[in-house]
Order: sequence, then structure tokens, then C-alpha cells
Amino acid sequence: MNAPKTALITGSTSGIGLEIAREFAKQGTNLVLNGFGNAQEIETLRAGLAKEHKIEVIYSPADISKPADMAQMIALAESKFGGVDILVNNAGIQFVSPIEEFPIEKWDAILSINLSGAFYATRLVVPYMRKKKWGRIINMSSAHGLVASPFKAAYVAAKHGLLGLTKTVALETAEAGITVNAICPGYVMTPLVQKQIPDTAKARGISEEAVIRDVILEAQPTKKFVEVSDVGALAVFLASDAAASITGAALSIDGGWTAH
Ligand code: NAD
Repeated sequence: MNAPKTALITGSTSGIGLEIAREFAKQGTNLVLNGFGNAQEIETLRAGLAKEHKIEVIYSPADISKPADMAQMIALAESKFGGVDILVNNAGIQFVSPIEEFPIEKWDAILSINLSGAFYATRLVVPYMRKKKWGRIINMSSAHGLVASPFKAAYVAAKHGLLGLTKTVALETAEAGITVNAICPGYVMTPLVQKQIPDTAKARGISEEAVIRDVILEAQPTKKFVEVSDVGALAVFLASDAAASITGAALSIDGGWTAH
């Protein structure tokens, strides 16, 4: 039997990242969890995943927008597991506002979390992956990495940028047994989406119900939210040996949104 692999998933205390962690746990993959939240709840989650799946799970509260925090988290993963085999750059935030009022500090925060954080992590895990001649890097972009919506200047810019980073690192590592891909989900009902409904209602001058019906579900021809478990399953597939020839790709999982 092969030695268990290690997956580091940024922003895995909530939403999509948490589900990706659960899906990798089911595969017997050791985990490095990361993200913010209630310390006791996170510890319950960590211990629960370890016990249920008989895997090793550690947690780091690193703020991924800070290079020193990132370095510390990767060093922790290396000291516990030898290195990171599967990196999922998932943590992200959103802010909704017309461009004229878009606060500069929100722009800076979104660019540093949603884009620079992936760069900080990637540059630190590639040396180990090269040594092992195997590695998987999965960047959580968005349908907003491929198309825009109004009032999301920073998010759309960062998610488009993340696709550029994905393609560049894919080319640099193509002969090293490493694949680098982006997942582009449509709307998934997580706290990130729940929190933006009131602001979108305000920016567009419509009710919150209308935001769900006429903005969110209108974007997706299936008229359904994408399920977190579907995104988790795609991440597990991209990390499998069957996906060895997929690199530099942006994989849409958006209910048909970007087919429009
Ligand atoms: P979420 O709010 O449920 O989870 C975000 C996670 O990131 C949390 O664990 C949070 O603690 C963590 N995080 C935030 N800032 C951080 C920081 N500075 N350092 C470390 N961790 C930090 O959101 P989600 O919907 O699960 O989003 C996950 C990713 O999926 C994001 O990159 C988001 O842009 C992307 N995405 C979401 C949707 C959607 O509809 N929900 C669609 C497309 C893409």
C-alpha cells in the first residue's frame, strides 16, 4: 500500500474548503486544516475527522495573506508530515460595492487573500513536490475567474488573476509530475454567499429574495446551487493519478453559467 498523502487546504474551517477536507479524509489523506473560527469548534472538527477516518489531522490558524504566517504553516506541515503532497488554495473572501465606493482596504484584502495567498503557498510547496516527482495544486477560482458580474471588482480581478497563476505554474512544473489546476464553481450556498446577499440587494436596489431568484439562480441555467460535495469530489479527482494529464486547466462546475 502507498504511504498516505498529505493535503493542506486553506480556508477549511467552513464551506467548500471544509467539504474538500472531508472528501480527502474519506480517501485516507492526512490533513492540514486552516482558517478562522471558534477554537473549540475547530478542535472538535479536527479530532472528529482524525478519529472517524483514522488519519492524522493538524490545524494552523495562519492568516494566508501574511507571508510569515504561510511560511510557518508550511513548516508545521513539513515537520509533521515531511511535506505537502496536495495543496488546495481555497480560502477566499468577497465584498460587493460599486466601483466608485469600493474601499481601497477591501480591494487590498481581497487581492492578498484570494490571489497572493495562493502564490505564497505555491512557491513553498513546489520544492518538496519536485523532490517527490509528484504533486497536486488546486486553486479555487470561480465562474468569476472567467466572466464578470457588476459590483465585484476586486473578487473578479483576483479570481481572473488566479487563473493566470494556475497556468504559469502548470507550465513551470509540467515535466515534474506536478499538476496545477483551477476549479471554477458557480454559486454554492456557503457563508460567503449568504453574507453577500444583503449587500447585493443594496447595490442593485432589489430585495434579498430577488437577489437569490434574479441574480444568483438566474446566472445558472440549472436554477440550482452547486453542491459543496460536487466541488469536493472534483478536487479529489484532480488529485488522483487518473487526472495526471490535466494541468493548467480551469474546470467549470457552475450549472452551465459560463456556457451562456
Ligand atoms: P466560506 O466563507 O464558507 O469559507 C472561507 C474560508 O476561508 C473560511 O474557512 C475562512 O476562515 C477562511 N479564510 C478567510 N480569510 C482567511 C485568511 N486570511 N487566512 C486563512 N483563512 C481565511 O466561503 P466558501 O464559499 O466556502 O469559499 C471558499 C472558496 O471558494 C473561496 O475562494 C471562494 O471565493 C470560492 N468560491 C465560492 C463560491 C460560492 O458560491 N460559495 C463560488 C465560487 C468560488
